[in-house]
Amino acid sequence: MGDNRQDTPRLPLAKPLDEAAIQAFSSRVRGQLIRPEDDGYDEARTVFYGGFDRRPALIVRVKDATDISHVIALARESGLELAIKSGGHSVAGHSTIDGGIVLDITKMKNLELDVEGRTAWAQTGLTAGEYTAAAGAHGLATGFGDTGSVGIGGITLGGGVGYLVRKHGLTIDDLLAAEVVTADGELLRADAKSHPDLFWAIRGGGGNFGVATRFQFRLHEVDEIVGGMLILPATPEVIASFVTEAEAAPEELSTIANVMTAPPMPFLPAEVHGQLVIMAMLVYAGEEVEAGRRAVAPFRALAEPIVDMLKPMPYPQIYPPEEEDFHPTAVARTMFIDSIDRDVSQTILEHLRASEAPMRAAQIRVLGGAMARVPAEATAFAHRSSRIMVNVAAFYEGTQERPAREAWVSRFAAALRQGEGGAYVGFLGEEGEERVREAYPESTWDRLAEIKRRYDSTNLFRLNQNIPPAIEQ
Ligand SMILES: Cc1cc2nc3c(=O)[nH]c(=O)nc-3n(C[C@H](O)[C@H](O)[C@H](O)COP(=O)(O)OP(=O)(O)OC[C@H]3O[C@@H](n4cnc5c(N)ncnc54)[C@H](O)[C@@H]3O)c2cc1C
Repeated sequence: MGDNRQDTPRLPLAKPLDEAAIQAFSSRVRGQLIRPEDDGYDEARTVFYGGFDRRPALIVRVKDATDISHVIALARESGLELAIKSGGHSVAGHSTIDGGIVLDITKMKNLELDVEGRTAWAQTGLTAGEYTAAAGAHGLATGFGDTGSVGIGGITLGGGVGYLVRKHGLTIDDLLAAEVVTADGELLRADAKSHPDLFWAIRGGGGNFGVATRFQFRLHEVDEIVGGMLILPATPEVIASFVTEAEAAPEELSTIANVMTAPPMPFLPAEVHGQLVIMAMLVYAGEEVEAGRRAVAPFRALAEPIVDMLKPMPYPQIYPPEEEDFHPTAVARTMFIDSIDRDVSQTILEHLRASEAPMRAAQIRVLGGAMARVPAEATAFAHRSSRIMVNVAAFYEGTQERPAREAWVSRFAAALRQGEGGAYVGFLGEEGEERVREAYPESTWDRLAEIKRRYDSTNLFRLNQNIPPAIEQ
């Protein structure tokens, strides 16, 4: 792999923001400035994951692209590190920073639906749940992930693997255009014709190339789905058969199976709490309810379900309300693998049994379908032919527990590894450069580094799964 890490042009050395600089900046922006002494600072610096207790020097809740351009200028001139926050769900804690500037997009939530034309322009402060509810009111949808509070900013730039992945592909497969403020503060439109290199790179290359202000998405007719939660006993046979059925299912059906300790949920019998179960989410996004019932039937038949909530429902209900103050601390590892047979299932269960973490999981997502039909070189997300994505994770309480959980996650991931592996950038934690490289095949990486050089030669946008700019030849 070519090394493009040396000789990145230097940014100015960071200097603290003085009062005059803040005042001048504040007179230029329309959005809200939040500093450590301000009310609401603690709430504003909070991100989804606990464990990132960072204290930015300045948080700017931007109102528009012009504000974003001013924040970028401030970061460039001060040399202070810049964090970009849309939904705040970065697994690596990249949307907050000690002593730096947080560009907070969460107030930019405008959504323009073109119901007739089946497209939407969405500002990147929207969450997946907000977008899905608004589009769902018209029986339309764009696929995001499994969690409503995830920001459309981060998930789209990473790729976006969710409940419609087999039927309609990744989120980026429905991205028609984007507006991006680049490192020099310019607002560019990126689509197939305008800055096609940038458009290619932002479809999987993360936040490396600029700040996305708006996305234009394709909408699909996804009205009533058949799906919801199905909880099954976790045995090697049931796990392996679940995967076999998910692979054989019609493309309308996408599944996410969490082999995990059952949480103390009221609808679960008390004797199941803390035991390993398969907590699966199924979504059949086809036209006929009856066909949906037929598609989910084999999963119901795998074993006597512990809980069966599969039913016809409006698609937005797939995102239930979430607890606002839920900030788990967790370690996780993501990977792609080819198959999960009985032996692999046994390995999964052995590792889950070996951990003391009260909450531990192996999440299995069978891919394929529409996602796999897009050529690997068409977007920066190139692991198109990967068959299964697995994420293993353990929660911890207090930093003293973290090393043991880390070691467990590493052992578990090593035991599951098959062939070249690969990683999904959206689920990477702070795992080092080699792991970022695993998210991209070499040719994709080289192309991304070259585009990074064109749009961000000083690596201003570096608080991310970083792709350093290629060295000018
Ligand atoms: C509970 C949970 C469930 C998840 N489920 C899924 C899933 O089902 N499918 C899936 O694909 N992923 C999933 N993810 C991963 C998720 O897509 C990524 O963590 C994503 O980056 C989060 O986006 P965000 O806007 O909420 O995060 P943020 O923390 O706000 O942003 C993360 C990073 O993305 C970049 N970024 C965000 N917005 C912008 C922008 N507007 N312009 C430029 N750069 C930006 C920045 O580099 C930023 O550091 C999940 C994550 C969590 C925590």
